[in-house]
Amino acid sequence: MQLTILGSGTAIPVADRFPAGYLLQFGAMRALIDCGPGTLRRFAATGHTLHQLDAVLLTHYHTDHCADLAALLFALRSPTFAGRAPMRLFGAPGLRRLVDKLTEAWPWLAPRDYELQLHEITPGAFALGDAKVDAIPIRHTAQSLGYRVTTAAGSIAFSGDADECDELVELARGVDLFVCDAATPDGRKLDGHLTPGLAAQHAARAGCHRLVLTHFYPECEGHDLRQQAARHFAGPIVLAADLLTLEPQPAR
Ligand SMILES: [Zn+2]
Ligand SMILES: [Zn+2]
Repeated sequence: MQLTILGSGTAIPVADRFPAGYLLQFGAMRALIDCGPGTLRRFAATGHTLHQLDAVLLTHYHTDHCADLAALLFALRSPTFAGRAPMRLFGAPGLRRLVDKLTEAWPWLAPRDYELQLHEITPGAFALGDAKVDAIPIRHTAQSLGYRVTTAAGSIAFSGDADECDELVELARGVDLFVCDAATPDGRKLDGHLTPGLAAQHAARAGCHRLVLTHFYPECEGHDLRQQAARHFAGPIVLAADLLTLEPQPAR
């Protein structure tokens, strides 16, 4: 299983960090976790085409996590992709409404010559290729889900945007890689988000193997985010960067 960070930034445009997007590869499966604006371009930069994209899992419906959904649906109408395998979209209830409203505004997003499968999911587990995916509600919006993806090669948890909650600990329990919101430096917490120190406290409680801090607002620049997290979490800490690739490396 391989994770490529497509976007380690937020809604605030900066030159080197795109908004939220992550590419997961396992077996023949290529799935995006979130697809903020620019994610499809980053996906192309990894050498993939949309022929190879199987699924998109959305953590919530803030625009910095899903705006490229419209771009994706429009691109897939190209004759280039006629007859391709179904595109599967997963998200909390509200997904169908989002797609319906987008299609009402932009009628040319309606699927043509391929099948669009919408999966509105409630908390619990579902299968995605060879993986088991657990969806757990996370404190951020009323419809926020964190995802834990488990394959024979290891496990990765994605907080999405997250504020402090026990569910985050449950989500990341024992995982090999915990990709967690660390939006602003310690002492400058935003409502609905975490700081490196708070992310690390949840990671420590969860007993995860490696912590990946991400979703950095511009305020993070110039701060030692790793040190802020290391005060609370003894394991390896990775600072997300666009196009950085990681593998779970399960603890033995
Ligand atoms: Zn959000
Ligand atoms: Zn966000």
